[in-house]
Amino acid sequence: MKTTINKPKLLVASPFHTTLLDTLHSNFSITYIPNAKKIDIDSIIDQYECIIIATKPGLDQTILSKAHKLKMIIRLGIGIDHINIEYCREHNIIVAITPNSNISPVLELVFSKLVYVLRNFDKATNNLFSGHFRDHLENGTELNSKTIGVIGTGRIGSNICRLASLFGMKVLAYDPYITNRSEIQALFVEKDVLISQSDIITIHTPHTLETDNMVDFDFLELMKKDSILINTARGRIAPMKTLIEYSKKEKIKNFIIDVYDNEPFIPDNDDIFFLRKYFTLSPHIGAFTEQSLHNRSQEALIQLNDYFIKSKQPHGMIDLLKGY
Ligand code: NAD
Repeated sequence: MKTTINKPKLLVASPFHTTLLDTLHSNFSITYIPNAKKIDIDSIIDQYECIIIATKPGLDQTILSKAHKLKMIIRLGIGIDHINIEYCREHNIIVAITPNSNISPVLELVFSKLVYVLRNFDKATNNLFSGHFRDHLENGTELNSKTIGVIGTGRIGSNICRLASLFGMKVLAYDPYITNRSEIQALFVEKDVLISQSDIITIHTPHTLETDNMVDFDFLELMKKDSILINTARGRIAPMKTLIEYSKKEKIKNFIIDVYDNEPFIPDNDDIFFLRKYFTLSPHIGAFTEQSLHNRSQEALIQLNDYFIKSKQPHGMIDLLKGY
């Protein structure tokens, strides 16, 4: 007699690496809607035991309350502030991220943009095209011997510390929750000390009640003149309105920003002058690389198999009480 195996039903609502989709099919019954919006999944979410999402679609209470069979949410990437965690906790829905796949692309983004700003590459290229070659070009600045302040020393922040040390930078760090301080190549100091002594400050915390609006005018006032602020973590930690307003004081050399409190960020015409002069912007592409998409998909696949096939705890499962 032929037995039919009911495969767990899976809704893949974000881009998934094409080479791994076939492997996914072997153990799961899949609906694939890359870049799905809420409206695309609203009427079908009740059928699935698992949903895979990226930064979109957000899973608020309204949509989650329709997902009667949902056991697991996989967030391809890191950052779960668009998922109603309280609802998941109350309804025993586990949430897993892909913690290991976004580290190197963010490290590369941070250091490449930093060097780009410090060595005036933008101006240098314009100089060449306007026929001036190196004339009137200011000397650049090296990373070596500069002080970098790293706020949040988890997966990404701790590696920023490691690489910064290799570049010969002095590394200050602030993270009240980290337990393995001795393994991190940094001098841990109070937040105000870090802010006032760093030439470059880079933020690598999650967005929580505590880090919401962490960068305000007081924070910026404490920063050194001509220092640089980098935010590749979450936009609501350093809202654009605050940064743009503050940039008009012409004290901070550059704001290197990849994430925004309102995405997509559409610059206001009145702000363009200051944005061009004091900001180096990218459209949330910290982990937007081919390798990272492959690795995120692979990590999701492993966790799906662990949870649904092997009844094992997925490695990226987040602590729903802590919230990240
Ligand atoms: P992680 O959870 O490994 O590390 C976060 C660290 O922040 C932890 O060590 C935690 O103790 C610390 N922290 C929490 N609250 C803090 C506070 N109030 N002050 C100081 N430190 C605090 O996270 P991660 O994987 O390193 O990611 C860091 C950030 O980068 C997250 O916000 C994530 O969403 C973001 N991220 C952005 C992109 C992008 O595309 N730009 C890609 C990946 C990750």
